[in-house]
Amino acid sequence: MGFYNPPYFNGKHYTQDLTHMINVGVLGATGAVGQRFVELLADHPWFNLSTLAASERSAGQPYGKIVNWRLDTPFPEKIAKITVVPTSPKAMKDVDLVFSALPADIATDVENTFADAGIAVCSNASSHRMEPAIPLVVPEVNPEHLGLIDVQRDSGRDGFIVTNPNCSTIVMVTALAPLRKFKFSDVRVATMQAISGAGFAGVAAMAIYDNVIPYIGQEEEKMETETLKIMGTLKGNKVANASFKVSASCHRVPVIDGHTMAVWIDIKEPVENLKTAFRDYKPPIKGLPTQPEESVHFFEEEKDRPQPRLDRMRGNGMTVSVGRLREGIRFVAMGHNTIRGAAGASVLNAELITKKKYL
Ligand code: NAP
Repeated sequence: MGFYNPPYFNGKHYTQDLTHMINVGVLGATGAVGQRFVELLADHPWFNLSTLAASERSAGQPYGKIVNWRLDTPFPEKIAKITVVPTSPKAMKDVDLVFSALPADIATDVENTFADAGIAVCSNASSHRMEPAIPLVVPEVNPEHLGLIDVQRDSGRDGFIVTNPNCSTIVMVTALAPLRKFKFSDVRVATMQAISGAGFAGVAAMAIYDNVIPYIGQEEEKMETETLKIMGTLKGNKVANASFKVSASCHRVPVIDGHTMAVWIDIKEPVENLKTAFRDYKPPIKGLPTQPEESVHFFEEEKDRPQPRLDRMRGNGMTVSVGRLREGIRFVAMGHNTIRGAAGASVLNAELITKKKYL
C-alpha cells in the first residue's frame, strides 16, 4: 500500500477515511477496456495502480513497450515502466482489488481464482453477472445489491466478485433511474452501438464502414435479462427480478465511441411529470471520485440531442444523456460505452465498495 495523499481528481479534492491508498491491478490491461482502466486509475485519489496483467504474449515486458495505446488522451507515462505480469493471483499478490477486462471465456475461471485467493474482483466481463450470489451493480440504481458480497463471504470465500452490466444495459438502466418511482410495464429498445464495444479486433473496417450491422451476438439477451436483475429487489440472500419486460433490438453503427438507443416505455403518466422527474433527479449516492456532477443529463429544449460525438464525454464520459422525451412514451439515451459502459462503471463500483468498507 502507498501512503494516502488525497489529490485533485475530476476537478475536486477527495477525502476518504483511508490511511493508505488501496493497491489495485488490471487484468486484460492492454485491451480496449484495459487501457481505459489505466487511464482512469493513473491518478486516482484512493487507488494505487501497482500491477498490470495480460496474456502470456505480453507478460514480462514493460507496459509502455507492448501496449498499442489507442485512446485519444495522452499515455500516462508514469505507468510505462510497470512490467506486465501473467494473469494469476500469485503474480499479483500485493493487490487488494483487481479490475477485470478479460474476454468472457477466460474471465470465468480466472475471476473465481482471484476471489478464492482473497482478492476483490470488479469485473466487466459477462461471465458471472447473472449468478445469484454475484452483485450486478450500477451505484446510482442498486447500491444495496452489494449486500450479496456477504453471501459470497458466508460461502467461505475470502475475496468476492462484483460485476457491472453490459455497455448498452448500463446506459438504459441509468436513463430509467429517474422514472423508477412510476409504475411501468414493458420497455422496448433499439440500439445504435459504437464499434469500440467489440474491442480492438472486433469489427473489420470493411464490414462497418458505410454500413449498419443489425446483429450483435448475445447483446439483446444481455439487455433483456441484466436490466431485470439490476432493477430487481434484494430480498434476504437473493435478488427478486423486476417484473416488467424488456424487448431489445441491437445494431452496430460506424461510430467510434458512444452507444445511442431509442427507448419506448409503457408508463401511464403525463409526459410533463416525466420531464420533472428527469429534471429533479438526484442519485442515491454521492462523494465517489468517478461519479459525475450529473449522472443523467436531460436535454429538454434541444431537438437533436443527445449525439455521440457531441455528448459522450459529458461528465468525463460518466454522464448518460437523455433527450427527445415525448408522448409514446419515447426518449433517446446515449452514454460512453468504454467509460460509463465499462471501465468507469467498474471503478465507480470499486469506489462504492471502498466507501461501504467491504475491502
Ligand atoms: P480486447 O480489446 O480484446 O482486450 C482483451 C484483453 O484480454 C487484452 O489485454 C488481452 O491481452 C487479454 N487476454 C486475452 N487473452 C488472454 C488470456 N488467455 N489470458 C490473459 N489475458 C488475456 O477486449 P475489450 O473490448 O477490452 O473487452 C474486455 C472485456 O470487457 C470483455 O469481456 C468485454 O465483453 C467486456 N466489455 C467491453 C466493453 C467495450 O465497450 N469494449 C464494454 C463492456 C464490457 P493481450 O494484449 O496480451 O492479448
